[in-house]
Amino acid sequence: NKSIIFKAVPEGYPVAGEHMELVTKEIDIENFSLAEGDILVKNHYMSLDPYMRGKMRHSYVKSYTPAYEIGQVLDGRGIAIVVKSNNKKYQVGDYYIGLIGWEEYSHIPANVVSASFEILAKAISKSKVPESYFLGLLGLPGMSAYVGLNKIGQPKKGETIFITAASGAVGQVVGQIAKIKGLRVIGSAGDDSKIKYLEEELKFDGAFNYKTCNTDEKLKELCPNGIDIYFDNVGGEILDIVLNHLNNFARIVACGMISQYNTNDHYGVKNIFQVIKKRLLIQGFIVTDHLQEIEPFQKEMGEWLKQGKLKYKEDIVEGIQNAPQAFVNILTGKNFGKLIVKIC
Ligand code: NDP
Repeated sequence: NKSIIFKAVPEGYPVAGEHMELVTKEIDIENFSLAEGDILVKNHYMSLDPYMRGKMRHSYVKSYTPAYEIGQVLDGRGIAIVVKSNNKKYQVGDYYIGLIGWEEYSHIPANVVSASFEILAKAISKSKVPESYFLGLLGLPGMSAYVGLNKIGQPKKGETIFITAASGAVGQVVGQIAKIKGLRVIGSAGDDSKIKYLEEELKFDGAFNYKTCNTDEKLKELCPNGIDIYFDNVGGEILDIVLNHLNNFARIVACGMISQYNTNDHYGVKNIFQVIKKRLLIQGFIVTDHLQEIEPFQKEMGEWLKQGKLKYKEDIVEGIQNAPQAFVNILTGKNFGKLIVKIC
């Protein structure tokens, strides 16, 4: 069983091999013993997500998810097949969607099984879309887009939305839902091929490469009537610039601040006074606080998919041994679309 363990807390950007390490251990599936409620699964696909960087911290630093412990197998959400079960809800051969290790086979204890996404596991066996969509478009990244945009963004037809990390797992879904709802959609990303995808494939009304363009100038040009919703995936300097382009009563959906994840020297936002001057709403959210939305989300997204209104770009990396570098690539913007590791 090839697994990736957490080796050391990174100070800046994590490095494959230095902070995450491949280990191989024999696994005897036939004689594997399971306590009441446990299952053993063979992992198919695993999702790599920016939040994992937040878990690669010292355990004394508090956050909304527990820190990874040194020496533990890293974990994240995955899609797997049950190969052994001591749980009435899961039979051998069933799909399991929930927390797994970064490894080929995972022993899932009863308490983790009970927090698994049974609705998704049932939906996947009936669905015609690629399995991996249940970790992206139809999984928590898609739901982050849906919940963040609807609940905090409160989109109205004719409004302008600006989205950062717009070609990513969450961003591309935000943009497409916003288009369906009749908004003017502007996005930014850090690579020209991503910009081409946003403009040509997803039909964004405008997009620019924030690494090669001046964000302030581009927002002036592409959002001449100001911005009503900012879906913030990056924080930092771009958030600061956007504050000056927001309209009165605009909403900032604080989804992520990836520009700040690999440094302790956090960017100090200077234009925060705009929150008062423009009566802005700024609200953060964590998608797992909104799991009651999973059914309406699945239903509405499923309809849009059937109607051909949604596309989804995935970046699929093969082999668990390549997961550490793939994870680093998310933090440096080398992924293009939802990063998925195909394990088997
Ligand atoms: P993506 O697939 O968008 O990958 C991350 C992207 O962020 C990179 O591809 C890169 O794209 C961009 N990026 C990386 N570093 C920087 C930087 N310094 N400045 C600007 N952009 C950068 O990831 P996700 O869609 O999964 O996540 C997007 C954001 O949403 C993250 O901040 C994440 O933490 C957050 N999130 C929050 C959730 C919640 O519940 N609140 C749930 C899911 C995600 P580019 O080429 O554009 O630079």
